[in-house]
Amino acid sequence: MDRSALITGASRGIGLAIATRLANSGYGLTISARGAEALEVAAKSLREAGAPEVVVVPADMSDPESGDALVAAHTEAFGDMNALILNAGVGTAGPIAEFPQRRFDKTVAVNFTAPFALIQRALPLLRAAAAKDARRGSKVVAISSITGEYAEPTMAAYGATKAALTSLIETMNMEESGNGVSGCSIAPAFVDTDMTDWIKDKIPAEQMIDVEDISELVEALLKLSAQAVVPKIVVSRAGANPYGA
Ligand code: NAP
Repeated sequence: MDRSALITGASRGIGLAIATRLANSGYGLTISARGAEALEVAAKSLREAGAPEVVVVPADMSDPESGDALVAAHTEAFGDMNALILNAGVGTAGPIAEFPQRRFDKTVAVNFTAPFALIQRALPLLRAAAAKDARRGSKVVAISSITGEYAEPTMAAYGATKAALTSLIETMNMEESGNGVSGCSIAPAFVDTDMTDWIKDKIPAEQMIDVEDISELVEALLKLSAQAVVPKIVVSRAGANPYGA
């Protein structure tokens, strides 16, 4: 097997678009999300799209053990890892004054604790792949959010976890880019997926960013040489305030 990637939240939306592009390019894939049935449907389409092998690992990223299971399954199938795509994320709106603690804890667990654990567990595999392909190295791509860049009322918990994710990637670059492992945090405004259904009566889907725009960026990042480190990409929406979603 030539190249492999692990993608969280790959059963739909941005994650599935990224997985499909990597399948088209011949990557072996480990895909994860909570819903096993949707993952199996995605796996079938990814095999048809060209992925030589697709490993399906149903997991809830709010469970601190999930990173171990995911990386173990990827190791068994592929031995090393060229790309880690940290895409699974959750977000609900609410003012700080009334935000329920349980929702806050889940947002932090899925959006920040799980990506930290996954990077930590995957680093030996990412370093091994970078050693084999010194020209390209290996890459971590995290899907953060424009809300992590520019404050927005009611988005404190979500925005703070996304800002933390971007900071994590920047620190990882300082520590690991010399080993050939570098990362990018992509911070989009509203993207047309299930996650934005709640606001489509105000902002129609056609005015949102397309999932293919994000997957195109990911594919380009994975093709860069190990010398080029792109820590962050902010994607704003045409016609909208560039500092908002
Ligand atoms: P989506 O269409 O709702 O898809 C979310 C994916 O993550 C699904 O595969 C979902 O599958 C999985 N997932 C959700 N909760 C999970 C959990 N607790 N454990 C494991 N997997 C979980 O969302 P999307 O819009 O593609 O969002 C992808 C990423 O982009 C997120 O990190 C989001 O914050 C970020 N983002 C989205 C937008 C936007 O406007 N859409 C903008 C900026 C950033 P299951 O439900 O089966 O688990």
